[in-house]
Amino acid sequence: MSENSVMVYIQQNEGKAADVSLELVSKARELADKLGAEVSAAIFGEKVSGEVSRLASLGADKVYLVEDSRLKYYTPVPYSKLMIQTVSEKKPQIVLYGATTEGRDLAPRVASHLKVGLTADCTDLQIGDHTQKDTEYKNILYQIRPAFGGNIIATIVSPEKKPQMATVREGVMRMAQPSPSRKAETIKIKANFSKDDFPSEIIDRVLQAKSVNLKGAQIIVAGGMGVGSKDNFALIRELAQTLGAEVGASRAAVDQGFIGKEHQVGQTGTTVRPKLYIACGISGAIQHRAGMDSSSRIIAINSDAEAPIFGIAHYGIVGDLNEVIPKMIKAYKARV
Ligand SMILES: Cc1cc2nc3c(=O)[nH]c(=O)nc-3n(C[C@H](O)[C@H](O)[C@H](O)COP(=O)(O)OP(=O)(O)OC[C@H]3O[C@@H](n4cnc5c(N)ncnc54)[C@H](O)[C@@H]3O)c2cc1C
Repeated sequence: MSENSVMVYIQQNEGKAADVSLELVSKARELADKLGAEVSAAIFGEKVSGEVSRLASLGADKVYLVEDSRLKYYTPVPYSKLMIQTVSEKKPQIVLYGATTEGRDLAPRVASHLKVGLTADCTDLQIGDHTQKDTEYKNILYQIRPAFGGNIIATIVSPEKKPQMATVREGVMRMAQPSPSRKAETIKIKANFSKDDFPSEIIDRVLQAKSVNLKGAQIIVAGGMGVGSKDNFALIRELAQTLGAEVGASRAAVDQGFIGKEHQVGQTGTTVRPKLYIACGISGAIQHRAGMDSSSRIIAINSDAEAPIFGIAHYGIVGDLNEVIPKMIKAYKARV
């Protein structure tokens, strides 16, 4: 049976759907509305049925589900077998995965088995038409991502084969407001596992809690090369602490060893969307902007009035951050 749907693979941990998967269900709803299609979600795990209502509230019409204690944690062989089975049976037009370690492992296995295309690390998805060798393809998926070191934004299409598949980075798509009254149909997929489908077993998992929560931060104070040194990053930390903010950084600052990689914002770091982003001594290269230009308010502090960051900043301060930041801290403390 061929289904007119946009399917999302739901990554889960201890039975809870990952944020990136919920963001993708929201985006899938938007795409499906343009296509006049349904949204389906595929979720596998030990106990995952508790997530059906959440997936429905964000826009899923159908949830394909497999519950089996052996699926408690992701392992490549059984998960890819199930996903290949689900996609082959339901034949969605589009399948989306989070560009996480798990999604990056699973999606290529499914794509190579089904011999369909896959675009990794998309930063946008749109629906449009495409003409190729005199053939016009209507309503296909534009898979949009930076290419050639971020110097161009490429639109990639795979019009000839279905499903069209893409992975999308965490935090790039906006999670919709849930509508608790929305309902989804739950469809249990019958898995035919043999013992060969479980060649590996997870005996123990040791999780290291994230020390930096850039994605969840409402305010981020980020430092770049203009900060000048590891020691001078104390100024960035002080402003962040004063404002109750998280500390971010450009890649150049990370590469110089001013601060750890977990603080990096941008194309190869974290994509953030805080209420306020303060960029200090950051020039505003496209790869940095790709990770923060959806922030609600951007303040840039830079000694070069021509720095590209001013092109996207809502408020710009031209000056030496070593003078500007202490004044900001003083002014803020004087008001609270
Ligand atoms: C494939 C690829 C992926 C990349 N991914 C990322 C990414 O994820 N994130 C990222 O950030 N970059 C990324 N980059 C790197 C990016 O191209 C830039 O090199 C980097 O963002 C520059 O960092 P910066 O703005 O801190 O440094 P610079 O470009 O050197 O800018 C420093 C700025 O500080 C200002 N300044 C200097 N002194 C002061 C002062 N005292 N007070 C105020 N301002 C001052 C200068 O005027 C300048 O504008 C990537 C590059 C490639 C090729």
